[in-house]
Amino acid sequence: MITIAGAGLAGLACAYELAQRGAPVRVYERAAEIGAGSVSRYAGGMLAPWCERESAEEEVITLGGRAIDWWAKITPVHRRGTLMVAPARDRAELTRFARRTSGYRLVDGAEISALEPALAGRFAQGLFFEQEAHLDPRQAIRDLAAAATALGVEICLGTEAPGNVDLDCRGMAAGRDLKGLRPVRGEMAILHCPEVKISRTLRLLHPRMPLYLVPRDGGLFMIGGTMIESTSPRPITLRSLSELLNAAFTLNPAFAEASVVETGAGLRPAFSDNLPRLHQDGGTLFLNGLYRHGFLLAPALAQQVAERLRPETHDEHHRKRQSA
Ligand SMILES: Cc1cc2nc3c(=O)[nH]c(=O)nc-3n(C[C@H](O)[C@H](O)[C@H](O)COP(=O)(O)OP(=O)(O)OC[C@H]3O[C@@H](n4cnc5c(N)ncnc54)[C@H](O)[C@@H]3O)c2cc1C
Repeated sequence: MITIAGAGLAGLACAYELAQRGAPVRVYERAAEIGAGSVSRYAGGMLAPWCERESAEEEVITLGGRAIDWWAKITPVHRRGTLMVAPARDRAELTRFARRTSGYRLVDGAEISALEPALAGRFAQGLFFEQEAHLDPRQAIRDLAAAATALGVEICLGTEAPGNVDLDCRGMAAGRDLKGLRPVRGEMAILHCPEVKISRTLRLLHPRMPLYLVPRDGGLFMIGGTMIESTSPRPITLRSLSELLNAAFTLNPAFAEASVVETGAGLRPAFSDNLPRLHQDGGTLFLNGLYRHGFLLAPALAQQVAERLRPETHDEHHRKRQSA
């Protein structure tokens, strides 16, 4: 039996990959419900390796490229791309962003309006990352738990993990045991605005804070996400909330009538290079540091973990014995 601490993104993705390879798996989750303790409840759910490359290493593309197909087997994935725009005064930001990324095409005002009529007449230039996608993070983590359970994974909810698990995926809660793991605070809001129709992730560039808006079902939009080096889990600040709401208003003034149905703040677990790491300590393997790329990178990391932890199959064992 392989035991895992934490049924967040990392823990569930690993459980799923291990179970796919025939391993018996038990996951301990301290929260009483799937997703309730995971920082992913605040996530946008963007699967956006080419955009993320702007401020991240090449690994987000090499490891994240497979995430869209992986998630599509588990939960609805919207393959609508990402449309990046900037107000006229911040056009230089768009040029800078384009220089640091790939996988996009330049679009003019007419094409922006054709892609998203709600932006018509508001932006003269943008970048369209056609291969990117998004999902609903809360549904995705529930669907992932269901897929793992269907493969035989046992998930013990409302249960603190014992000290001697095989795999530790406690996210920020593992901070004391992992040298260099730090929190990067992210704040978000959810708007209800059925009058505005948007079908893909929009990113708005401006010099202080690049922001994004991700559409969800039922006229809902997630708008996020700040990046603050802070250990504080306190609610969203007035400054951040006003930046987020202004961004929505800049995209379409009809958002002025939106209801703010939820706000939140979560701590992303990150190492100094903002890349995830596998770390062996005694009998426990740690997977952590998924930073702002949990949905994007968990599938590839979980595959690496499963290759390391899975029990040998009967055939492999037999082959090794014969060649010894
Ligand atoms: C505002 C915001 C926006 C984001 N947007 C995106 C995005 O668009 N795309 C993307 O790819 N990523 C995004 N992320 C990042 C993503 O949410 C994280 O990278 C990911 O959730 C980290 O996964 P994890 O499994 O390491 O930690 P978590 O998902 O937090 O899981 C850790 C789990 O361990 C459990 N746990 C802790 N201690 C114990 C214990 N002692 N015993 C048992 N269980 C325990 C917790 O309850 C929790 O369920 C965003 C994050 C934020 C905050």
